[in-house]
Formats: sequence, C-alpha cells, structure tokens
Amino acid sequence: MRALQLTGPGTLELREVPVPEIGPGELLLRVGAAGICHSDSYVLSLPFAMREDPLTMGHEIAGTIEAIGAEVDGRVVGERGIVYLCWSCGVCRECLRGRENVCLAAGRTAMPPCPGLGPDGGMAEYVAIPANSFVPIGDELDFAEAAPLADAALTPYHAIRGALDQLQPGSTAVAIGIGGLGHVAVQILTAITDARVIAVDIARDKLDLAADCGAALGITANDDTAARILELTDGRGAEAVFDFVGTDATATLAVRAVAPDGAYRMVGLGGGVPGIDAGPAGGPGLPWGATVRKSYAGTRSDLHASVELARRGKVRVEVERFALEDGRDAFERLDRGEIRGRAVLIP
Ligand code: NAD
Ligand code: ZN
Repeated sequence: MRALQLTGPGTLELREVPVPEIGPGELLLRVGAAGICHSDSYVLSLPFAMREDPLTMGHEIAGTIEAIGAEVDGRVVGERGIVYLCWSCGVCRECLRGRENVCLAAGRTAMPPCPGLGPDGGMAEYVAIPANSFVPIGDELDFAEAAPLADAALTPYHAIRGALDQLQPGSTAVAIGIGGLGHVAVQILTAITDARVIAVDIARDKLDLAADCGAALGITANDDTAARILELTDGRGAEAVFDFVGTDATATLAVRAVAPDGAYRMVGLGGGVPGIDAGPAGGPGLPWGATVRKSYAGTRSDLHASVELARRGKVRVEVERFALEDGRDAFERLDRGEIRGRAVLIP
C-alpha cells in the first residue's frame, strides 16, 4: 500500500509499504480520508526524527472497517468511523474517570500514544488501530469532513467544555487563529454556548471564514487588538479566550484581553509564554481570578459529542481535498497559510 512517511527530519516521502497486520484487539481500517493538522507540520520542523524507522503520519483518520481482530466484539466489517487519537491505557484512574487525554501511563507529559506521532498513522491506504479507538459516524458524513473531527473538533470542544461556566448569555468568547481548529471552534461556540464570538486572525480571508462559521465580529491581529476587545466589552475583557496560535504575541493578547474570572485556554503550540505576574491586577497583566490552561486534545466523550454536532449539521468542517501523492504540496500550502479550513488527504 502507499503511505506518506516521515523518513528523516523534515523529509516526507510517499512509500510503498506492507498493509499492517492487526493484533487480537485491533481493527484494520481502510482509510477514507486523513486530515493534516498544523501539529504534523510542527513535527516536520523538529530537528530529530520521531522514530528510527519511517513513520506514517496522520492522526485525523476516517475510514471503513476492513478486518477485525480475534478478541474484538461488537464491530462489523464495513462500518464507517473515525479514530479517537488518545491511545491511552484504558485502565488507570484517569482513563476510568473518562479523562483519557491525561492518562497516568503517559507520565508527566500526559500525552498518550497518538497515531502518526509514535505508532503509524492514517496517511496511508490502511491503518491498524486499537478497537476501542473506533468511533462510528454512521452513513451520512463524508469521510473528508469527518476525519478532522478527530482533532480539529475534539480539541476545541474539550477546551470550550472546560470554560462553559464563563460562557453564559451576555458573555464574549474570543477565538485567535481561524485555521483548522479555529474555524471549528467558532462553530462549536455558536452551537453550544450563548456567547458572542469574536474571531482574531492575521489574514482577512480567515476572518471571512469565521463570519461564515458564525462569528459576530472579526478583528485583524495587530498591536491594537487587545484594546479593541476591551472597547467591545466595556473595558472588562472577554470571558473566555481560545488561542489556536500560542505564540508570545497571542499569549500577550490573551492575557490583556481576558476578563476577571475569565478563562484563557492555550491550544496552539507556538511556544509562547503568557505573562502571569503575581502583583495587583490593575495594569495590562492577568486580571484577578482569570485562569490559564494548556489544553490537550480531549476525552473520548468529547469526540462523541463532536461527531454528534457534525451529524446534526451544527459543525461542518471546511475542507480542501488532496490526493496522497500531493501530500507534500498540501503541507507546504498549510505552512504558507493558504488552506481555508482543513487540508485533507484522500488515499
Ligand atoms: P492552522 O495552520 O490551520 O491555523 C492557524 C491559524 O492561525 C491560521 O489561520 C493563521 O492565519 C492564524 N495565525 C497565525 N499567526 C497568528 C497570529 N499571530 N495571530 C492571529 N492568528 C494567527 O493550524 P491548526 O491545525 O488549526 O492548529 C493550530 C495550533 O494548534 C497549532 O499550533 C497546532 O500545533 C496546535 N494544536 C494543538 C493541539 C492540542 O491538543 N493542544 C491539538 C491540535 C493542534
Ligand atoms: Zn490511562
């Protein structure tokens, strides 16, 4: 089969590899689509290889069950679904509480094995997955629009669910970075909260996308953005700020624009450092009561909820489709900021 593999730092190659064999607790999925996340691009930029042998990338996977491991119950060949990306231990205290994304077995990094970032992922014709990571999507959803739900919906859903207390009627939510995750975040905020949504991006066309997704207002990111958000919220700030960029610039913006008792959720991997000073909060620093959370992925239950929103038409991922052969081109376009919504590979 064909697979898009990371063969060395920064090197992606389309290679012919064997179809994976499955263990007794696994499923073989015929891949219908695999999304490209900005985290994949981040992995490509690392100065070292993730693994010694070539790694098939892709953690946003949709497909059809092709074969079923001997010990798996309750699944049938031909069933359509997507893959929950936290391949957690399933038996620890956190997993049993439904907090698989912070599984104890993953140690302090709390990042359970994830397809395409350790085990082989879905940018291939077939992928082997743990049976309990399969989440059915029914017959209606298109694979290309379903695959990104596995991260581009799961991760924002989790971050938003954790800030629902702040998102009462009359509140304001800010989403920074209207790419793959951000444009879905705007739709989830619109679907499950009564907050007014303000979108922030450096690119005008991304703000147009945000408007299509339900944002009340779009603001171009520049030195005045925090002041503009304060102006729009009577000087108080936004009750929740979701940052899908995570650089120093966006962290500073979030700290300056979040309201007292507000929620700042860092999702982007930009390496930014939010300035959290311990002094009185009269100035531009973090106001009293505000919380900062570095939010990772989501729970299995968050993924089921995301799929439900998509099935009901409340969330629709905007996708640009590419053949697996054009994967490298798709990555380059993502890096140049040219993708509207999510780039998806069709093997
Ligand atoms: P993307 O490339 O699709 O979107 C990024 C968006 O941010 C683009 O629209 C871009 O124009 C905008 N942007 C860039 N710099 C900006 C700035 N200074 N101010 C405002 N907007 C800016 O990326 P994505 O796939 O949506 O991923 C977003 C981030 O989230 C990445 O850093 C990714 O690695 C990370 N991520 C984190 C998790 C997690 O669990 N924490 C999961 C998935 C992705
Ligand atoms: Zn666990």
